[in-house]
Amino acid sequence: MTGRVVDRLQRPLRDLRVSVTDRCNLRCTYCMPREVFDENHTYLPRSGLLSFEEIERLARIFISRGVQKIRLTGGEPLLRRGIEKLVERLANLSDLQGNPVEVALTTNAVLLAQKAHSLKSAGLSRLTVSLDSLSDVIFARMTDTDVPVKTVLQGITAAQQAGFVDTKVNMVVKRGVNDHEILPMAAHFRHSGIVLRYIEYMDVGSTNGWCMDDVVSAGDILKVIAEHFDIESAEPNFTGEVAQRWRYVDGGGEVGVIASVTQAFCEKCTRARLSTDGKLYTCLFAHEGLDLREPLRQGLSDPALNHLIASRWEAREDRYSQMRHDETIRNRPRIEMSYIGG
Ligand code: SAM
Ligand code: SF4
Ligand code: SF4
Repeated sequence: MTGRVVDRLQRPLRDLRVSVTDRCNLRCTYCMPREVFDENHTYLPRSGLLSFEEIERLARIFISRGVQKIRLTGGEPLLRRGIEKLVERLANLSDLQGNPVEVALTTNAVLLAQKAHSLKSAGLSRLTVSLDSLSDVIFARMTDTDVPVKTVLQGITAAQQAGFVDTKVNMVVKRGVNDHEILPMAAHFRHSGIVLRYIEYMDVGSTNGWCMDDVVSAGDILKVIAEHFDIESAEPNFTGEVAQRWRYVDGGGEVGVIASVTQAFCEKCTRARLSTDGKLYTCLFAHEGLDLREPLRQGLSDPALNHLIASRWEAREDRYSQMRHDETIRNRPRIEMSYIGG
């Protein structure tokens, strides 16, 4: 069976996020707090990770059911040895219309200066870099490491030099921690060719101690920017785009906001997630995934795997962000972002 598949809310399967490692070289307090992800934490053994062959095989099946974009994430995807080889395999695939599949990657950019050229040569289409502050002090507090901001900025420059266009920088805004960095970040990335996107801090996983008071709403973020710069709203680039786009009137480029908490966009959510050990999750806030690794390793055929994937998507009715006000739903266990892939 091939062809598009839709879920119970009529949402097609269009994007696949693949977590290629559950390890990271930073310890962002909102994602992998060091108290939990310390030397006693058990990461997946190498044999537990999907191999590149396995990822490619599953990707082909997802593509046959409508996936057009694949994003590699983690953990920190640049820590996965030979990641360029995986990029190359995936970039050679075509979607149902015969167009090349778009392969993107989200990274903290600590290793990007070293890898930008090889990723570009391997066929990576686009990059998203996570950076929450330009101040070393705040960056160190948020990432719980002594990596200087300069390293990340050098990674971004290397990406531009390697020929990546449309690179985005994502900044998670946490009240009282980096909200005073909203403007300096806007000022830094204006006129740079980079689109800065502010992300509302989310209650992913169960280790970051999230509470609503820590969230700075997209509306408040935009107010801060609009007080200093003339901005006007811009049309989405494509149907289903989750970031709201704003353009600097003076031609300084664009900024975006992703209001995952205050203006949930579940009705547009077309993303499936494949965890590092090969489980399929149909929502970032899911607590259970469908194991694809074992059936795959036990020799299940492509049509049978295809059936498993399509049936799971057809049964999907996730819309956590629109239901988060319901305490019973909010109190359900959730999987960690570094494992499921942000
Ligand atoms: N390590 C890579 C990176 O940081 O770009 C890729 C994985 S990371 C889990 C993907 C994205 O999730 C990052 O942009 C990060 O800022 C975001 N993220 C992690 N925890 C978050 C949270 N609680 N709320 C909002 N965004 C979060
Ligand atoms: Fe690592 Fe990315 Fe999570 Fe930060 S957000 S701890 S860089 S996986
Ligand atoms: Fe998609 Fe789940 Fe996020 Fe809603 S809460 S947008 S369904 S991942």
